[in-house]
This record gives sequence, structure tokens and C-alpha cells, in this order.
Amino acid sequence: MANRDTSSTADLQIDVGRLVARLDELGQIGRIDGPNGEWGNARLALTDEDRAGRDLVVAWMRDLGLTVTIDAIGNVVATRLGTRPDLAPVMSGSHIDTVGTGGRFDGNLGVLAALEVAETLEQYGVETERSFQVAFFTDEEGARFAPDMLGSLVHVGGMPLEEALDTIAVDDGARLGDELSRIGYAGPVPCPTTSVPHAFVELHIEQGPILETEGFTIGVVEGVQGISWTEIVIVGQSAHAGTTPMRLRHDPSYCAGAIATFVRDLTRRIRHDQVGTVGRIELYPNLVNVVPARAVLVVDMRNTDDRALSEAEALLAEFLDDLAASEGVDITKRSLARFEPVDFDPALVDRVEATAHRLGYSTRRMPSGAGHDAQMLARICPTAMVFTPSVNGLSHNIAEFTETSDLEAGANVLLQVIMERLDSGDD
Ligand SMILES: [Zn+2]
Repeated sequence: MANRDTSSTADLQIDVGRLVARLDELGQIGRIDGPNGEWGNARLALTDEDRAGRDLVVAWMRDLGLTVTIDAIGNVVATRLGTRPDLAPVMSGSHIDTVGTGGRFDGNLGVLAALEVAETLEQYGVETERSFQVAFFTDEEGARFAPDMLGSLVHVGGMPLEEALDTIAVDDGARLGDELSRIGYAGPVPCPTTSVPHAFVELHIEQGPILETEGFTIGVVEGVQGISWTEIVIVGQSAHAGTTPMRLRHDPSYCAGAIATFVRDLTRRIRHDQVGTVGRIELYPNLVNVVPARAVLVVDMRNTDDRALSEAEALLAEFLDDLAASEGVDITKRSLARFEPVDFDPALVDRVEATAHRLGYSTRRMPSGAGHDAQMLARICPTAMVFTPSVNGLSHNIAEFTETSDLEAGANVLLQVIMERLDSGDD
């Protein structure tokens, strides 16, 4: 590594003031203010707000002299050339779309910290062997177009481009490909990518309470939980709430409640920290004095162990059969999402941990409870993630917050891990 500055690159640090200023400026686009001074963002994928956010980040990339390319699903990659362009690049990044009532750190931190790494290398005139790439991926949240992590999934060849472009928005019925063209981000670079990174490292907020409550600064992420979303439709018989004897009822609302209770019980029976949630139940006609005719609910189950997750799915299916028979209702189910657990690259994970220790930060190894673009990149290259604490464990909430000292720690770990990988020669 060549460095025009006399100091060692091992001491190089990011400028946290610059990072926070960019987070604040990007956060003004689609800003939502809460009653107590908290503020977050609504920048749903491929909306006008998303376009404005993209334009701002692309302008920053160009200001730094990076070469910006856009692919056919709207993923943006900015490259800082190394001295040996024959070697695979090192990539870092995340997403800048948010949920409808999202925070300003989720995803944005990973993109702007990667940009801060590029600016730090520029500022100190650091030449690297490998090229460095800063990326943001389309529709990570999946709040407008399902599934989540759609852009990075298409990037690595996990979903055909045409299928992704034909995805219909859940809110307004718009077609993804049309929205992508409308905002000017249907780029010329083909998907899936032919450029396989040497390594991918993503900085992200934890989005949970573990680092804060246990007093750690850096989360060393070993992998991502597997996820299973099952939509269940129960059809029974609508009836009068006063006149219908209990033994004659075929009640979808009773079944929905029984399923929610079963899922909670299941999490105690299955190994490896099974989690299970029923976050959506809809009853029809949803009237106070009517046994409903129909219920629709979605079961969200996650586990770091795929066999345990499959066991949970099988037990749920068995329960649904028994319930349909005993209550005399018709129950159908379909999978809305199913991703296997992902293990990150053990050597790269070790490197994140060792780097954090060298910089004097406390670390905790942990799985990620949420999905991230890194789990898609893990399909094609060695990948790892760095977590920073979330105050009160809040995320997907405008009160989402991470202390500036933690942003600085996370971004410095990212900088040092990336610099080491940029000069890792042919290994
Ligand atoms: Zn995120």
C-alpha cells in the first residue's frame, strides 16, 4: 500500500463529522418528524423520494472521482481504481430505500460509511492494489416490491431479471420495471453481474437490543437467520354470534388465534433460538357480532439452523391439518418467502473481530436477525458484516438512532478491514 502521507495506514481513521453530515443530508429526503424531536424517513423503493436520494448519493460518488455504473435492476456501483485492475475488486455497501416509517441509519449507514472509506483513501492519497467499490442495491426493504433484498438477489443471479422487472407494487399496483425507468435508474449493465468481488463487507446497525443491553460496541456477524413466511387462508362459515351453538361453529377467527398460540409454543420446543411471529391477521367481514367467514394471516418463522427451521415448518403444517379437521374449516397455505440461513466467510469474520480488537473496541459474535444485502453477496464471494448498536434496539421506526461514537467505531473497523483486503494480493 502506497501512502503519500507519512503516517501508517494502520492508523488511518474516517472523519465521523463528514459521515454524520451526509447521513443528515440524505435523511432530509423523505423526512418524517415525530412528536419528541425524533425523525426518520419514508423513501420507499423507486418512488420520487428514492430517486432524489439516489441522485444525491450518485452526485457524492462523482464528486469523489469515482466511476459510477448502474445495472438493469437499478443497483449502483461506484469504483475507485486500484493499481492492479486485473485483480477482483473489494466491495462495500448496502441500501438507501426505507420502509414507510423507517429510520435514517438502516442501510444508509452502510452506503455512506463505504463512501466515507473511499473519501478517506482519497484524502490521504492511499493507493491500493485492488479497486474499491461502493454499492447500493435496489429495493432491499421489500416494503413496496416483494421479496426483500430484490436488487442484490438479481445481482447475484438468484432471480431472473425479467421476473424482477414484472414485480407489482403492493401499495399502488405499479410495475417495478416501469418505475425503474420512470426514475431514470434502468441502467445498461447486465444482470446477474459478471464482476465477482474479492470480498464484500457491509456495515449495518444491529436493529435489535443485544449490543446495547450487553454493553458491546461492535457486533461481529457470523451469519443471517433463515426466514420462512407462510400465508394461511382459513375458510369457515359466517354465522350469528348469539344464536349459533358453539358445537356448530366453523370459526376462522378461533383458528387464527390458535395458530398464533401454537407458533409461540413452537418457539419453546425448537432448538437454536427459534423465533416466530404472527404479525398480520385479517378477518372477514370483521364485525363484532359475526362469526367470520374467512381469516388470512401470515406466520413469520426464523432460525439460524435450517433443519430446525424445516422442522418448525413441518410441525406447523401438521397442526394446520389437525385444526382444519377439528374445527371443520378449510385451511390453505402458500410460501411468501423462504431463504436458507447464511454463514459468512469464517476467515473474513475472524478478520473483522481481530481488527475491532486492534482498534480497542469490545466485540460480540452474533447472528443477524434481519435479512441484508450481504447474505445475497455471500452466494458469490467471501462476505462479512459489522454491526453497530441501536439505541433501545429500535429500527424500522423513526426513533431509530445510533450514537456518533458507535458510528465512528463501526466505520473505522470497516475502513481497516477493507484496506487490508484491498492489498491482499492474489490470495
Ligand atoms: Zn437494512
